[in-house]
Amino acid sequence: PDGDAPDYLARLNPEQRAAIETTDGPLLVLAGAGTGKTRVLTTRFAHILLSGRARPNQILAVTFTNKAAREMRERIGALLGAPVEGLWLGTFHSLCARMLRRHAEYVGLSSSFTILDTDDQIRLLKQVIEPRRIDTKRWPPQGIMGVIQRWKDRGLTPQRVSKAEDSDFADGKCREIYADYQKRLIQLNACDFGDLMLHMTEIMRTHPDVLAQYHRFFRYILVDEYQDTNTIQYLWLRLLAQRGEGPANICCVGDDDQSIYSWRGAEVENILRFERDFPGAHVVRLERNYRSTRQILGAASGLIAHNEERLGKTLHPGREDAEGEKVRVISVWDSDDEARMVGEELERLHNDGHPLSECAILVRAGFQTRAFEERLITIGLPYRVVGGLRFYERAEIRDALAYMRVLSQPSDDLAFERIINVPRRGIGNTGLQKLHLHARARDIPLTAAVLEMLAAGQIKGRAREHLAALMKCFGQCREDLPREGHVVVVERLLEESGYLDMWKADKSPDAPGRLDNLKELVRALADFESLGGFLEHVALVMETEENAGNERLSIMTLHGAKGLEFDTVFLPGWEEGVFPSQRTLDEGGAKGLEEERRLAYVGITRARLRAIISHAANRRIYGNWQSAIPSRFVEELPPEYVHATGDATRARHNAAMRSPVFGATPFPVVARRRAVVDVTTSDTPARKTAFPIGTRVFHQKFGYGTVTSVEGNRLEVAFEKAGPKRVIDTFVEQVS
Ligand code: ATP
Ligand code: MG
Repeated sequence: PDGDAPDYLARLNPEQRAAIETTDGPLLVLAGAGTGKTRVLTTRFAHILLSGRARPNQILAVTFTNKAAREMRERIGALLGAPVEGLWLGTFHSLCARMLRRHAEYVGLSSSFTILDTDDQIRLLKQVIEPRRIDTKRWPPQGIMGVIQRWKDRGLTPQRVSKAEDSDFADGKCREIYADYQKRLIQLNACDFGDLMLHMTEIMRTHPDVLAQYHRFFRYILVDEYQDTNTIQYLWLRLLAQRGEGPANICCVGDDDQSIYSWRGAEVENILRFERDFPGAHVVRLERNYRSTRQILGAASGLIAHNEERLGKTLHPGREDAEGEKVRVISVWDSDDEARMVGEELERLHNDGHPLSECAILVRAGFQTRAFEERLITIGLPYRVVGGLRFYERAEIRDALAYMRVLSQPSDDLAFERIINVPRRGIGNTGLQKLHLHARARDIPLTAAVLEMLAAGQIKGRAREHLAALMKCFGQCREDLPREGHVVVVERLLEESGYLDMWKADKSPDAPGRLDNLKELVRALADFESLGGFLEHVALVMETEENAGNERLSIMTLHGAKGLEFDTVFLPGWEEGVFPSQRTLDEGGAKGLEEERRLAYVGITRARLRAIISHAANRRIYGNWQSAIPSRFVEELPPEYVHATGDATRARHNAAMRSPVFGATPFPVVARRRAVVDVTTSDTPARKTAFPIGTRVFHQKFGYGTVTSVEGNRLEVAFEKAGPKRVIDTFVEQVS
């Protein structure tokens, strides 16, 4: 019979073919990593077209990222032998935006509505909160925004939020704030990201004619990465798929073991609901993994077996030829060593003719990329940071660098302009214009212009107070610089200018990551003799042009790597507190840990031929050295699939030789202790120092010492070697 099958089907296994040829009726493909789920979906798309069941624009296909959508479009084009136009293929949000433009008037918008970015959202929300006399220290707008977004994820319009839902948060006023915020958005002819799905779902719920139109229109629905859909996405899909007459032609593919977005409201339960909501649904299981070698598969399967909440799936190697190398687990001394090891491995692979585009470094958290980026630049291997910015291009890093540049060079107008109103200091566009005029008229830098205008009383109100404080802070820091050294002074500058506090008060999900990046920046600073030397280094690093075409390796987060595959995958930082993340450990509970383990599973299963896991014995996190414990996930890998090596002794020697701070002294072992103010969970940004007088602390530059006095967040510490110093509490660690 295979002889009759079209070419594109002949290359698939019987289960995959069944999943493609069962075109009508609801279908769920539940299968492990690399079993060809995405390939099935793509081929199914082509099959529907080629068998004449629908025209290209009658198929609705949902991918998880825009990148995945692009890839699927290309694959479909290749299968059909020609590019196709007008496809309804994209992410939930992009598809909804396109629909909403056609029906905007049903929710009071016009079709030219704008989609707000996060900054605009918060600004608008603040306007709504203002008249309500809410203690914004206790209930920061970002927190309220979080509540609203979770409601939107669950498909709750303000009218649908029950009174019981409105907890104590923001004095029980969240619901009315939400209603007002939505009203304001409509007045502005705008919507936020969450609204795209919310409005569209609401329109289809309340306007049967619109829904009927889509029912006539979309004959087939295809969904990738189904395990990570949230409630509103599910509702949206169900509305579109349940078409009164005939069965719903919806095909969802997913893997419960790769559900890694519950923190964004994803519900694995949607997998279980599928069979209930779509009676007669077929469930196809694919069990052959065609991506990875037997060794990689064995390691990944052994790891994920430690999770209890699983639907249970079997996974066999599909490539009988590919026994492969064991998964390597390498222990290194510290993160610089880790970066050097990865760099050496990459050079070797590159010299052996392996394309760099087939290699990836997958990190748990954004701050980890810096060490690799610097190493790769040093050895001249081109890379790209996928789904994110290169370390020194990130907004918070550029801000902090701008502060440093003004500190080192008060006439750096560009840097000063970047930070004059970050955090907000009440300087508007007109204020800035006046400042420029003054500076130009007098032919002086902006900072000097500020001082003159302050002295002449030409700056008024809130701006006056803030700018005076900022200038005083810069002045004091510049004076302290020769005596106290660049590390401490920069720490103080970031703290006292209010810059760090801006991020600490920010409750958006990416704020903790930004704080980690800032601490990583200070860590990098400590490796240099002077501020000027560091700034020069950064300028050089930033200058390296990206002109290597596609021959570049990828650095990205594990979350961003979902669905992708590479020949070689590096998985660094497998240490307790990095991966699983400190936040997960602090929260306790099995749920979070299982999600981290699924993330590890996603990581390993990205590799076709080689997976190289590493962990460092020491890590400078939150600005300080910590001795690190290998991740529990390392121990959970079945030993028969693992080859463990470690040359921490050699590394230790190297590290001691090159460390300007510690010389040959052994690295201190510092107790694991979290930052003073828990930036992720505390409701009150009010500062409370956790270092009473007499506490023994460790500072990365001055070593050990004892707290002798406390003044807000400033500590006087008698350091054993360096003598008495004033330091900011964020940058010291308690030692037990
Ligand atoms: P993930 O869960 O990671 O998203 P997936 O189930 O979507 O994985 P695919 O990316 O579709 O898996 O496929 C994994 C790899 O296996 C791809 O390189 C794909 O081309 C290949 N593959 C899939 N099916 C077959 C097959 N029948 N024969 C040969 N190779 C296959
Ligand atoms: Mg896939």
